[in-house]
Amino acid sequence: MRGSDPDTAEASASGRAFAIGLRNRFRGITVREGMLVRGPVGWGEFSPFAEYGPRECSRWWAACHEAAHQGWPAPVRDRVPVNVTVPAVAPERAHAIVSAGGCATAKVKVAEPGQDPAEDLARVEAVRDALGPSGRVRVDANGAWDVDTAVHMVRALDRFDLEYVEQPCATLDELAAVRRRVQVPVAADESIRRAEDPLKVRAADAADIVVLKVQPLGGVRAALRVAEACGLPVVVSSAVETSVGLAAGVALAAALPELPYACGLATMQMLTADVTDEPLSPERGFLPVRPVEVDERRLRAVEVDPTAWRERAAAARNAADGALGTG
Ligand SMILES: [Mg+2]
Repeated sequence: MRGSDPDTAEASASGRAFAIGLRNRFRGITVREGMLVRGPVGWGEFSPFAEYGPRECSRWWAACHEAAHQGWPAPVRDRVPVNVTVPAVAPERAHAIVSAGGCATAKVKVAEPGQDPAEDLARVEAVRDALGPSGRVRVDANGAWDVDTAVHMVRALDRFDLEYVEQPCATLDELAAVRRRVQVPVAADESIRRAEDPLKVRAADAADIVVLKVQPLGGVRAALRVAEACGLPVVVSSAVETSVGLAAGVALAAALPELPYACGLATMQMLTADVTDEPLSPERGFLPVRPVEVDERRLRAVEVDPTAWRERAAAARNAADGALGTG
């Protein structure tokens, strides 16, 4: 990455900040904030979460810079399969979400604090019923189970034929222990925040699948290098971005040599607004591989004071300057 080049400085100085409401609370937030930058080849999104410092933000900035100034590697497919996500809701609601979604793959949230195992079983049963036998059902515990609970629950839920279980426990050691005791493949999501993490996952024999996001890894090319070095199948997921950020995730999914699983990129509907007239929303379970054009009127409707975001971008660039070899 070239953190100090004049193009980058100019781009961060002209970035447009946005704040868009979330339909439901996510990671404790109700508003998704970030900055969009227009470069010579398109728009980039810089939307690290609030708690991330400059070092971590430098990778998010590199992803934004790549989108605006460099563009992405050539795709090997023209559309990307995506999953519908089912929150920790009652079975009837879960059934309705899947039936309305049009996706052949569903990701079901389980292990919600305050709920009991019977609720998880009923929700997954309803999702399997809605999808039919040919659909794929994965569950995501967001690291909430201990090893014994995870083993017990995965075996119980596999009655509905699980595609994989995502982050059943919090640590790599726990994931590895679960993996040794269940037949269902294990995917690592929260365990991967940095470029070196997928290699640690692999070294620990902690997962069969890695969930990768473009911004935290420093861009599409960086994520492709991580995927290649790691050697495990990849599920591309979003950081709940506008369609500008989602386009980078789609570009990664489109460029991967193999894409055996549906991606977690159907997240536009989590936001109450978008910055384009043509949001990257799934049609019959797929997202198209195409550029996203920002609509000035829509951007203005969600635009906020960019001062703090431009400062964050500048700090991220400086952190990148001091950390040659990152990304
Ligand atoms: Mg997850």
